[in-house]
Amino acid sequence: MITFFLITGFITIAVIRYKRDLQDGYRVVLRSAGPFRSKIVPISPVYRKILVDYFPYYNALTASDKARFERKLCQIIYSKIFIPRDFDEVTDEMKVLISATAVQLTFGLDGVYLSHFRKILIYPNDYYSSITKKFHKGEVNPAFGIIVLSWHSYVMGYLNSNQDGVNLGLHEMAHALRLENIIRNSEYQFFNEVLLNRLDEYGMAVCEPADYEQVKFFRPYACANTHEFFAVAVENFFERPMQLQLAMPGLYAVLCALLNQDPANYSSATSKDSAA
Ligand SMILES: [Zn+2]
Repeated sequence: MITFFLITGFITIAVIRYKRDLQDGYRVVLRSAGPFRSKIVPISPVYRKILVDYFPYYNALTASDKARFERKLCQIIYSKIFIPRDFDEVTDEMKVLISATAVQLTFGLDGVYLSHFRKILIYPNDYYSSITKKFHKGEVNPAFGIIVLSWHSYVMGYLNSNQDGVNLGLHEMAHALRLENIIRNSEYQFFNEVLLNRLDEYGMAVCEPADYEQVKFFRPYACANTHEFFAVAVENFFERPMQLQLAMPGLYAVLCALLNQDPANYSSATSKDSAA
């Protein structure tokens, strides 16, 4: 009798493991096929409706740029793993809108999909870190290829659009983008180094005490280091491009060249020229 239960138990465990491995295998194959699927399978009407309803950047594009945006969006959705933390299931809205932020930031950069960052970890609200003993809204972990976001703060970033230059999604994606540029993979060194250095020089100049009036345009956290300056500048570049252009035309021009797009005139975003 004991032998029977042992054999049945072993078989059950083997079947469960086989099913799980098979599902993992399917997911890996589907993710690997992401670039191909995004080219031949039209975007789901559900995904498109979410973009139309909630993503002004997409709505401002020309018809051909919308199609290009959709292809890039699908490739990002298909190739990344979205992981819910402290809730059950990542919704389509979460997948589409978080991926749309990645597309927004990289729309002028052909072949850039933040591919090192395969996992997107989503918390429903700001989350407590036992390491820093603080609540966090988001972070980027290059060692594990993870972008972490609080969904609440992500949504607030877009709801307050054009008002405060604060956008969590763009901020964390900007960190990931700058790191992706120095990670040796197929997307390595897509940024023009001269332009990047120029941007860092702007950051240092703006954060000089003598230029404190300009610092006020950004929140003080921008001056924590060059990575934070880049991320905060990107938030402002997309959230209030005209004000940034007026306040710091040189910095705005460098960001336009670096990201190969001009948010003050969305339809000018182009895939033809890289940020060289
Ligand atoms: Zn940051």
